[in-house]
Amino acid sequence: MAKASILLVEDDQLQADKTKKYLEANGYDVILAENGKSALKIAKTENIELILLDRILPDMDGSEVCRWLRLNKDTRGIPIIMLTVKGSVLEKVDGLEAGADDYLPKPYNEIELNARIYASLRTKYLRDELKEKNRQLEDVLSTVEILAITDSLTEIYNRRHFSLIIQKEFARTLRYNSPLSCLMVDVDHFKDVNDNFGHSAGDIVLKEIAQNIKNCLRKIDTIARWGGEEFVVLLPGTKKEDAFIVASRILRMVSDFNYTGINQQITVSIGIATMPELKVNSAEKLIDASDIALYKAKNKGRNRIEIAEQIEIK
Ligand code: GH3
Ligand code: MG
Ligand code: MG
Ligand code: MG
Repeated sequence: MAKASILLVEDDQLQADKTKKYLEANGYDVILAENGKSALKIAKTENIELILLDRILPDMDGSEVCRWLRLNKDTRGIPIIMLTVKGSVLEKVDGLEAGADDYLPKPYNEIELNARIYASLRTKYLRDELKEKNRQLEDVLSTVEILAITDSLTEIYNRRHFSLIIQKEFARTLRYNSPLSCLMVDVDHFKDVNDNFGHSAGDIVLKEIAQNIKNCLRKIDTIARWGGEEFVVLLPGTKKEDAFIVASRILRMVSDFNYTGINQQITVSIGIATMPELKVNSAEKLIDASDIALYKAKNKGRNRIEIAEQIEIK
Protein backbone atom coordinates (compact mmCIF):
# COMPACT_ATOMS: atom_id res chain seq x y z
CA MET A 1 0.00 0.00 0.00
CA ALA A 2 1.22 3.54 -0.77
CA LYS A 3 2.27 5.66 2.18
CA ALA A 4 -0.32 8.15 3.40
CA SER A 5 0.87 11.73 2.96
CA ILE A 6 0.41 14.11 5.83
CA LEU A 7 0.64 17.87 5.61
CA LEU A 8 2.26 19.20 8.77
CA VAL A 9 1.56 22.90 9.29
CA GLU A 10 3.96 24.08 11.95
CA ASP A 11 5.92 27.32 12.19
CA ASP A 12 8.23 26.17 14.98
CA GLN A 13 11.14 24.69 13.06
CA LEU A 14 12.40 22.47 15.87
CA GLN A 15 8.98 21.05 16.63
CA ALA A 16 8.30 20.56 12.91
CA ASP A 17 11.52 18.59 12.33
CA LYS A 18 10.92 16.42 15.36
CA THR A 19 7.33 15.55 14.41
CA LYS A 20 8.28 14.98 10.76
CA LYS A 21 11.01 12.52 11.74
CA TYR A 22 8.69 10.66 14.04
CA LEU A 23 5.91 10.40 11.45
CA GLU A 24 8.31 9.29 8.74
CA ALA A 25 9.63 6.62 11.07
CA ASN A 26 6.01 5.46 11.37
CA GLY A 27 5.65 5.06 7.63
CA TYR A 28 4.05 8.38 6.56
CA ASP A 29 5.12 10.81 3.89
CA VAL A 30 5.32 14.26 5.42
CA ILE A 31 5.12 17.63 3.67
CA LEU A 32 5.91 20.70 5.75
CA ALA A 33 4.25 24.11 5.59
CA GLU A 34 5.41 26.99 7.77
CA ASN A 35 2.35 29.19 7.48
CA GLY A 36 -1.34 29.15 6.65
CA LYS A 37 -1.11 30.43 3.09
CA SER A 38 1.39 27.84 1.92
CA ALA A 39 -0.60 25.15 3.77
CA LEU A 40 -3.74 26.04 1.76
CA LYS A 41 -1.76 25.98 -1.48
CA ILE A 42 -0.19 22.59 -0.77
CA ALA A 43 -3.52 21.10 0.37
CA LYS A 44 -5.07 22.10 -2.95
CA THR A 45 -2.27 20.94 -5.22
CA GLU A 46 -0.81 17.86 -3.51
CA ASN A 47 -2.55 14.61 -2.77
CA ILE A 48 -2.84 15.12 1.00
CA GLU A 49 -4.67 12.59 3.14
CA LEU A 50 -4.46 14.25 6.54
CA ILE A 51 -3.50 17.66 7.92
CA LEU A 52 -1.84 18.34 11.24
CA LEU A 53 -2.58 21.99 11.81
CA ASP A 54 -0.93 24.20 14.40
CA ARG A 55 -3.42 26.56 16.03
CA ILE A 56 -1.10 29.56 16.07
CA LEU A 57 0.62 30.45 12.82
CA PRO A 58 2.55 33.59 11.77
CA ASP A 59 0.10 34.72 9.09
CA MET A 60 -3.30 33.23 9.96
CA ASP A 61 -5.15 31.64 12.78
CA GLY A 62 -5.38 27.82 12.55
CA SER A 63 -9.19 27.88 12.66
CA GLU A 64 -9.24 30.33 9.76
CA VAL A 65 -7.10 27.90 7.73
CA CYS A 66 -9.55 25.19 8.75
CA ARG A 67 -12.53 27.19 7.46
CA TRP A 68 -10.85 27.80 4.10
CA LEU A 69 -10.01 24.11 3.78
CA ARG A 70 -13.65 23.21 4.40
CA LEU A 71 -14.91 25.76 1.88
CA ASN A 72 -12.80 24.42 -0.98
CA LYS A 73 -14.22 21.33 -2.69
CA ASP A 74 -10.76 19.85 -3.31
CA THR A 75 -9.77 20.00 0.35
CA ARG A 76 -13.15 19.58 2.04
CA GLY A 77 -12.73 15.85 2.68
CA ILE A 78 -9.23 15.91 4.21
CA PRO A 79 -9.24 15.10 7.94
CA ILE A 80 -7.72 17.82 10.11
CA ILE A 81 -6.16 17.38 13.52
CA MET A 82 -5.67 20.72 15.23
CA LEU A 83 -2.66 21.16 17.51
CA THR A 84 -3.84 23.43 20.34
CA VAL A 85 -2.45 24.98 23.48
CA LYS A 86 -2.91 22.69 26.42
CA GLY A 87 -6.00 23.23 28.52
CA SER A 88 -7.68 25.95 26.48
CA VAL A 89 -11.28 24.75 26.11
CA LEU A 90 -12.23 27.76 24.02
CA GLU A 91 -9.51 27.02 21.51
CA LYS A 92 -10.57 23.39 21.22
CA VAL A 93 -14.19 24.34 20.66
CA ASP A 94 -13.24 27.02 18.18
CA GLY A 95 -11.09 24.57 16.22
CA LEU A 96 -13.79 21.92 16.11
CA GLU A 97 -16.39 24.49 15.09
CA ALA A 98 -14.16 25.62 12.25
CA GLY A 99 -14.21 22.06 10.90
CA ALA A 100 -11.32 20.22 12.57
CA ASP A 101 -12.02 16.52 13.13
CA ASP A 102 -9.89 16.21 16.21
CA TYR A 103 -7.48 18.20 18.36
CA LEU A 104 -4.36 17.42 20.31
CA PRO A 105 -2.98 19.68 23.06
CA LYS A 106 0.67 20.67 22.83
CA PRO A 107 3.12 19.36 23.85
CA TYR A 108 1.74 16.09 22.66
CA ASN A 109 2.80 12.59 23.28
CA GLU A 110 4.00 11.02 20.05
CA ILE A 111 2.27 7.73 20.63
CA GLU A 112 -1.03 9.55 21.15
CA LEU A 113 -0.40 11.58 18.00
CA ASN A 114 0.19 8.39 16.06
CA ALA A 115 -2.99 6.79 17.42
CA ARG A 116 -5.10 9.82 16.54
CA ILE A 117 -3.69 9.98 13.03
CA TYR A 118 -4.43 6.30 12.59
CA ALA A 119 -8.04 6.73 13.81
CA SER A 120 -8.66 9.76 11.55
CA LEU A 121 -7.25 8.01 8.50
CA ARG A 122 -9.31 4.91 9.19
CA THR A 123 -12.49 7.04 9.33
CA LYS A 124 -11.47 8.77 6.10
CA TYR A 125 -10.83 5.49 4.27
CA LEU A 126 -14.16 4.08 5.41
CA ARG A 127 -15.92 7.23 4.26
CA ASP A 128 -14.11 7.15 0.89
CA GLU A 129 -15.02 3.49 0.49
CA LEU A 130 -18.65 4.25 1.27
CA LYS A 131 -18.66 7.09 -1.25
CA GLU A 132 -17.21 4.81 -3.92
CA LYS A 133 -19.78 2.10 -3.14
CA ASN A 134 -22.57 4.69 -3.40
CA ARG A 135 -21.21 5.84 -6.72
CA GLN A 136 -21.11 2.28 -8.03
CA LEU A 137 -24.65 1.70 -6.78
CA GLU A 138 -25.85 4.84 -8.56
CA ASP A 139 -24.19 3.59 -11.77
CA VAL A 140 -25.94 0.24 -11.46
CA LEU A 141 -29.27 1.92 -10.74
CA SER A 142 -29.04 4.19 -13.75
CA THR A 143 -28.13 1.21 -15.96
CA VAL A 144 -31.13 -0.70 -14.61
CA GLU A 145 -33.35 2.34 -15.21
CA ILE A 146 -32.17 2.58 -18.82
CA LEU A 147 -32.67 -1.16 -19.39
CA ALA A 148 -36.19 -0.96 -17.97
CA ILE A 149 -37.29 1.60 -20.55
CA THR A 150 -35.32 0.37 -23.59
CA ASP A 151 -36.14 -2.26 -26.19
CA SER A 152 -33.11 -4.55 -26.23
CA LEU A 153 -33.04 -5.21 -29.98
CA THR A 154 -33.65 -1.76 -31.45
CA GLU A 155 -32.40 0.31 -28.48
CA ILE A 156 -35.35 2.67 -28.75
CA TYR A 157 -37.97 3.01 -25.98
CA ASN A 158 -40.14 0.03 -25.20
CA ARG A 159 -43.93 -0.04 -25.18
CA ARG A 160 -44.22 0.42 -21.41
CA HIS A 161 -42.19 3.61 -21.45
CA PHE A 162 -44.08 4.93 -24.47
CA SER A 163 -47.33 4.48 -22.56
CA LEU A 164 -45.99 6.71 -19.78
CA ILE A 165 -44.85 9.38 -22.21
CA ILE A 166 -48.12 9.48 -24.13
CA GLN A 167 -50.07 9.81 -20.86
CA LYS A 168 -48.07 12.92 -20.00
CA GLU A 169 -48.35 14.40 -23.48
CA PHE A 170 -52.07 13.67 -23.60
CA ALA A 171 -52.61 15.58 -20.34
CA ARG A 172 -50.49 18.48 -21.61
CA THR A 173 -52.46 18.55 -24.86
CA LEU A 174 -55.78 18.79 -23.03
CA ARG A 175 -54.48 21.48 -20.75
CA TYR A 176 -52.95 23.75 -23.38
CA ASN A 177 -55.23 22.74 -26.23
CA SER A 178 -52.19 22.08 -28.44
CA PRO A 179 -52.22 19.44 -31.20
CA LEU A 180 -50.80 15.93 -30.68
CA SER A 181 -50.22 13.29 -33.35
CA CYS A 182 -49.64 9.59 -32.98
CA LEU A 183 -48.22 7.46 -35.81
CA MET A 184 -48.48 3.67 -35.91
CA VAL A 185 -45.89 2.20 -38.30
CA ASP A 186 -45.92 -1.45 -39.40
CA VAL A 187 -43.39 -3.07 -41.71
CA ASP A 188 -44.97 -4.52 -44.85
CA HIS A 189 -44.63 -8.26 -45.48
CA PHE A 190 -41.90 -8.56 -42.88
CA LYS A 191 -42.55 -12.28 -42.59
CA ASP A 192 -41.07 -12.62 -46.11
CA VAL A 193 -37.81 -11.01 -44.93
CA ASN A 194 -37.45 -13.65 -42.22
CA ASP A 195 -38.48 -16.42 -44.60
CA ASN A 196 -36.08 -15.34 -47.32
CA PHE A 197 -33.05 -14.20 -45.31
CA GLY A 198 -33.42 -15.70 -41.84
CA HIS A 199 -34.48 -14.33 -38.48
CA SER A 200 -31.05 -12.85 -37.61
CA ALA A 201 -31.00 -10.85 -40.84
CA GLY A 202 -34.54 -9.75 -39.97
CA ASP A 203 -33.33 -8.52 -36.57
CA ILE A 204 -30.67 -6.33 -38.17
CA VAL A 205 -33.21 -4.93 -40.63
CA LEU A 206 -35.55 -4.06 -37.73
CA LYS A 207 -32.74 -2.16 -35.99
CA GLU A 208 -32.02 -0.23 -39.18
CA ILE A 209 -35.71 0.57 -39.73
CA ALA A 210 -35.95 1.93 -36.16
CA GLN A 211 -32.92 4.12 -36.78
CA ASN A 212 -34.33 5.37 -40.10
CA ILE A 213 -37.60 6.39 -38.47
CA LYS A 214 -35.71 8.06 -35.63
CA ASN A 215 -33.71 10.08 -38.16
CA CYS A 216 -36.95 11.60 -39.46
CA LEU A 217 -37.92 12.98 -36.04
CA ARG A 218 -37.23 16.01 -33.86
CA LYS A 219 -35.73 15.84 -30.37
CA ILE A 220 -39.10 16.33 -28.71
CA ASP A 221 -40.70 13.44 -30.63
CA THR A 222 -40.76 9.92 -29.22
CA ILE A 223 -40.32 6.64 -31.04
CA ALA A 224 -40.88 3.26 -29.42
CA ARG A 225 -41.15 -0.36 -30.42
CA TRP A 226 -44.81 -1.18 -30.07
CA GLY A 227 -44.55 -4.88 -30.94
CA GLY A 228 -42.61 -7.26 -33.21
CA GLU A 229 -42.23 -5.20 -36.41
CA GLU A 230 -44.42 -2.35 -35.32
CA PHE A 231 -43.27 1.08 -34.20
CA VAL A 232 -45.17 3.93 -32.61
CA VAL A 233 -44.27 7.61 -32.88
CA LEU A 234 -45.55 10.54 -30.85
CA LEU A 235 -45.35 14.05 -32.28
CA PRO A 236 -46.20 16.72 -29.70
CA GLY A 237 -47.45 20.09 -30.97
CA THR A 238 -47.98 18.60 -34.43
CA LYS A 239 -51.20 18.97 -36.40
CA LYS A 240 -52.57 16.56 -38.98
CA GLU A 241 -50.94 18.15 -42.04
CA ASP A 242 -47.51 18.26 -40.41
CA ALA A 243 -47.86 14.71 -39.14
CA PHE A 244 -48.59 13.67 -42.72
CA ILE A 245 -45.35 15.35 -43.85
CA VAL A 246 -43.38 13.47 -41.19
CA ALA A 247 -45.08 10.18 -42.16
CA SER A 248 -44.25 10.78 -45.84
CA ARG A 249 -40.63 11.37 -44.89
CA ILE A 250 -40.60 8.08 -42.95
CA LEU A 251 -42.15 6.23 -45.90
CA ARG A 252 -39.44 7.56 -48.22
CA MET A 253 -36.55 7.13 -45.80
CA VAL A 254 -37.45 3.50 -45.05
CA SER A 255 -37.96 2.49 -48.69
CA ASP A 256 -34.84 4.28 -50.00
CA PHE A 257 -32.47 2.57 -47.55
CA ASN A 258 -30.14 -0.30 -48.50
CA TYR A 259 -30.56 -2.78 -45.67
CA THR A 260 -27.73 -4.98 -44.44
CA GLY A 261 -27.81 -8.63 -45.53
CA ILE A 262 -30.88 -8.49 -47.76
CA ASN A 263 -31.43 -7.51 -51.38
CA GLN A 264 -35.02 -6.51 -51.02
CA GLN A 265 -36.82 -3.21 -50.68
CA ILE A 266 -38.51 -2.57 -47.34
CA THR A 267 -41.69 -0.52 -47.05
CA VAL A 268 -43.96 0.45 -44.19
CA SER A 269 -47.60 1.40 -43.75
CA ILE A 270 -48.53 4.24 -41.40
CA GLY A 271 -51.71 5.21 -39.56
CA ILE A 272 -52.03 8.75 -38.20
CA ALA A 273 -54.30 9.94 -35.39
CA THR A 274 -54.33 13.60 -34.35
CA MET A 275 -55.90 15.57 -31.54
CA PRO A 276 -57.83 17.79 -31.26
CA GLU A 277 -59.34 16.81 -34.65
CA LEU A 278 -60.22 13.50 -33.03
CA LYS A 279 -62.27 13.89 -29.90
CA VAL A 280 -60.74 11.09 -27.83
CA ASN A 281 -60.88 10.97 -24.07
CA SER A 282 -57.77 8.89 -23.42
CA ALA A 283 -54.25 8.32 -24.72
CA GLU A 284 -55.16 4.67 -25.37
CA LYS A 285 -57.99 5.76 -27.69
CA LEU A 286 -55.57 7.94 -29.65
CA ILE A 287 -53.28 4.92 -30.10
CA ASP A 288 -56.26 2.73 -31.08
CA ALA A 289 -57.29 5.29 -33.69
CA SER A 290 -53.81 5.28 -35.25
CA ASP A 291 -53.92 1.47 -35.30
CA ILE A 292 -57.27 1.44 -37.11
CA ALA A 293 -55.90 3.91 -39.66
CA LEU A 294 -52.85 1.68 -40.11
CA TYR A 295 -55.02 -1.30 -41.00
CA LYS A 296 -56.82 0.81 -43.51
CA ALA A 297 -53.44 1.59 -45.09
CA LYS A 298 -52.66 -2.14 -45.16
CA ASN A 299 -55.99 -2.94 -46.80
CA LYS A 300 -55.51 -0.22 -49.39
CA GLY A 301 -52.31 -1.88 -50.60
CA ARG A 302 -49.49 -1.01 -48.10
CA ASN A 303 -46.54 1.42 -48.46
CA ARG A 304 -48.98 4.27 -47.76
CA ILE A 305 -50.42 6.56 -45.10
CA GLU A 306 -53.97 6.82 -43.77
CA ILE A 307 -55.43 9.36 -41.34
CA ALA A 308 -57.90 8.30 -38.65
CA GLU A 309 -61.44 9.61 -38.83
CA GLN A 310 -63.69 10.35 -35.87
CA ILE A 311 -66.35 7.83 -36.78
CA GLU A 312 -64.00 4.87 -36.38
CA ILE A 313 -63.13 5.31 -32.73
CA LYS A 314 -66.51 5.89 -31.13
P1 GH3 B 1 -48.08 -7.12 -43.11
O1 GH3 B 1 -47.70 -6.35 -44.30
O2 GH3 B 1 -49.53 -7.54 -43.14
O3 GH3 B 1 -47.74 -6.44 -41.86
O4 GH3 B 1 -47.24 -8.48 -43.18
P2 GH3 B 1 -46.20 -9.01 -42.16
O5 GH3 B 1 -45.55 -10.22 -42.74
O6 GH3 B 1 -45.28 -7.94 -41.75
O7 GH3 B 1 -47.10 -9.33 -40.92
P3 GH3 B 1 -47.23 -10.53 -39.97
O8 GH3 B 1 -47.89 -10.02 -38.73
O9 GH3 B 1 -47.84 -11.69 -40.67
O10 GH3 B 1 -45.75 -10.93 -39.61
C1 GH3 B 1 -44.94 -10.18 -38.81
C2 GH3 B 1 -43.59 -10.82 -38.83
O11 GH3 B 1 -42.64 -10.09 -38.08
C3 GH3 B 1 -43.64 -12.21 -38.26
C4 GH3 B 1 -42.59 -12.21 -37.18
O12 GH3 B 1 -41.80 -13.36 -37.17
C5 GH3 B 1 -41.75 -11.02 -37.52
N1 GH3 B 1 -41.11 -10.48 -36.35
C6 GH3 B 1 -41.72 -9.96 -35.27
N2 GH3 B 1 -40.77 -9.58 -34.36
C7 GH3 B 1 -39.57 -9.89 -34.88
C8 GH3 B 1 -38.22 -9.76 -34.42
O13 GH3 B 1 -37.93 -9.30 -33.34
N3 GH3 B 1 -37.23 -10.18 -35.24
C9 GH3 B 1 -37.50 -10.73 -36.45
N4 GH3 B 1 -36.49 -11.10 -37.21
N5 GH3 B 1 -38.76 -10.87 -36.92
C10 GH3 B 1 -39.79 -10.46 -36.15
MG1 MG C 1 2.70 27.95 16.02
MG1 MG D 1 -46.08 -6.17 -40.78
MG1 MG E 1 -47.37 -6.29 -37.43
